[in-house]
Amino acid sequence: MKITDLRVHPMAMPFERVVWTAHEPFRRAELILVEIRTDAGIVGVGEISTGPQPVVCKLLEELRPLLLGRDPAAIDESWRMLFSVTVPRPGGLGGWDGLPPPLPRNQRPQFMAALAGIDIALWDIAGKAAAQPVFRLLGSTRTDVFTYAVGGFYVEGGDKFACAGELAGYVARGFKAVKLKCGALSIEDELARIAAVRKAIGPDIDLMLDMNAPHDVETSIRFAREAARFDIVWLEEPLHWHLQPADFARLAAAIDIPLAHGEREWHGQTVGAFIDSGAIRYVQFDCTRYAGFSEAMRIGRHATAKGVLVAPHSAAHIQAHIASAFGDGAHSAESVGDPRLHPIHHRIYSGGAAYRAGRVHLTEAPGFGLEVDWRQVAALKS
Ligand SMILES: [Mg+2]
Repeated sequence: MKITDLRVHPMAMPFERVVWTAHEPFRRAELILVEIRTDAGIVGVGEISTGPQPVVCKLLEELRPLLLGRDPAAIDESWRMLFSVTVPRPGGLGGWDGLPPPLPRNQRPQFMAALAGIDIALWDIAGKAAAQPVFRLLGSTRTDVFTYAVGGFYVEGGDKFACAGELAGYVARGFKAVKLKCGALSIEDELARIAAVRKAIGPDIDLMLDMNAPHDVETSIRFAREAARFDIVWLEEPLHWHLQPADFARLAAAIDIPLAHGEREWHGQTVGAFIDSGAIRYVQFDCTRYAGFSEAMRIGRHATAKGVLVAPHSAAHIQAHIASAFGDGAHSAESVGDPRLHPIHHRIYSGGAAYRAGRVHLTEAPGFGLEVDWRQVAALKS
C-alpha cells in the first residue's frame, strides 16, 4: 500500500458562550483534520487541536510531498523521518538531502502538532487495513475505560458557585469522577468553590482539580495543603509554565495530593523527565496536540515502567484506545461534561468511542472507528 494524498481540513466555529480557564478564554472551537489517502482506497483521519491553524496547515502542506509514495504501515519510520526535519543534519543545510531545511525554532510546537495529525491518521489506516480497531492492534481486548467529566469553566460575570450544580449534574449522568477547573481566583475563593462542589457531589465521587498553571511552588503548597481536606484525587498542571520537574518534585514532597501533568509538553523527552523525577502520579500527554499517537504510546510505556498512571488529556475518541492498551496501568480517558465545549467533534463525527455510565466504550469498527461527515467539515472550514 502507498500513500497517494494528504489533505488538510482546518475548521472553526464560535462557542455559544465564552468560557475561561485560569489561563485563557475559549472564544471559538478549532480543529484540523488530516486526511491521508492510499492506493488501496483506505482513508485515514487524524486530528489536531493546536494552533495557530495557518502555521500548522502550512507545515502540513510542506510535509505532504515527503509522505507521498510511502508505505502507510511504516509509522515509526515516517515519524522519525519527519521529526528529523526539526534538527540540523548532514546535508540538511538548505534542504540538500531532499528533506526541507532544518525547521525554524519558532515553529517547533506547530510542527509537533502537524506530526501529531499525520501520525494519528497513519494509525487509523493501520487499523482499517487490518480490519481491527486500534486498541486490538495494540494487543488489548478492553472495550471500555474509566472516564471523568471536566467542568466548572469560568464565565465572566457568572456565579462562582455554579460549578457545584454543574458537576453534580455530571454525577447524575453517571460519572463517578469529575474534574473542576480551578486557579483563576484567590485561594480563598477557590477553596470555597471546591467546598461547594464536594458538598454537591457527595463523599463517594472522585474529584480532581485542573489548575492551568496559576501558581509558583510556595503558593501551590499553601493551596494544596488547604484543598487536601476535600479528598482530591489529583492536582493537575499546578505550576507556572516555566517551572521544571525539580519544582514539581519539591511541590510533591510537600503536599499529600498526587500531581498530574503532561498536556502542555511537546514530546516524550520532557514528559520522561517529569516521570523520572518521581513528582507525578498521572501522565496526561495529549497526542492530538503534539507528536501523535506513537509518541503517546512510547510515553505510556515509559510511565508504566516507572509506576506512573496513564491518563490522556482530552479527545477520548482517540485516546481511549491508549487507555485501553495500558490496562491497569491507565487511570482514565478524559470526557467533557458539557458537549458545547467540543461543538466541532459533535458535528463531524459519528461512531467511535461513546460515553455511557461513567465509562468510555470503544467499538469494534476498524481504526478509530469514526465516521466523518465531510459536508460538515466543509461547512466549518476556517
Ligand atoms: Mg488540564
